[in-house]
Amino acid sequence: MRISEIFYSVQGEGELTGVPSVFVRTSGCNLRCRWCDTKYASWDPSGEVMELSEILDYVKTKPANHVVLTGGEPMVAKGISELAENLKNLNKHLTIETAATVLPDGVACDLASLSPKLSNSTPRSGEIERGRIEKHDARRLRPDIIDAWMADYDYQLKFVVASQTDLDEIDDLLGRLKITPMAHKVLLMPEGVTTESLSERDALIVAHCKQRGFRYCRRLHVDLFGNTPGT
Ligand code: SF4
Repeated sequence: MRISEIFYSVQGEGELTGVPSVFVRTSGCNLRCRWCDTKYASWDPSGEVMELSEILDYVKTKPANHVVLTGGEPMVAKGISELAENLKNLNKHLTIETAATVLPDGVACDLASLSPKLSNSTPRSGEIERGRIEKHDARRLRPDIIDAWMADYDYQLKFVVASQTDLDEIDDLLGRLKITPMAHKVLLMPEGVTTESLSERDALIVAHCKQRGFRYCRRLHVDLFGNTPGT
């Protein structure tokens, strides 16, 4: 399996924010989000091939109960189910961070961290070849697959928000799901790769959270480390 990076840090987003975790970032993604902050695992995938045993050996060296499979899109990584099963056999709590465009197909997972992509993710004309823009738009939002994850796993629904348009799209998507998520499981995160840019969105997002019962979600890793690989 091609691994973009593997590291030990604290979880920066979501319900488990602050929890020490080993992160296994697979390389490769079926989307091309305009604001992707891990382009080295998606637009321009890099990394080394690691054997399953090497990944497990790394995990065993760290005193963490939590492991996060992230990407890129971990659900398109060859061998992801085997890796997840082996991590569960080590009694680790396993989070899978996915855009929820690929069916779970029974993968072992304790927390499905679902991050559906809104229209703000679509690259602008000229940023990437046209065919790729169309593919991104066709793939980015799959309410049926989000429902499938929510039906079978503990979950959180995370959205990156930059504007009121994004909040309207989130409301629209939630209305299209067959399963109504618990409001506190819907996490709104400010878009941005610096503390300053995150903070600019705060007032808008907090007001909407108070209205709907959603949860405001800071991106702790940006505050702590900036937009730095391996953190
Ligand atoms: S799904 Fe995630 S990794 Fe893939 S392009 Fe979008 S933000 Fe980047």
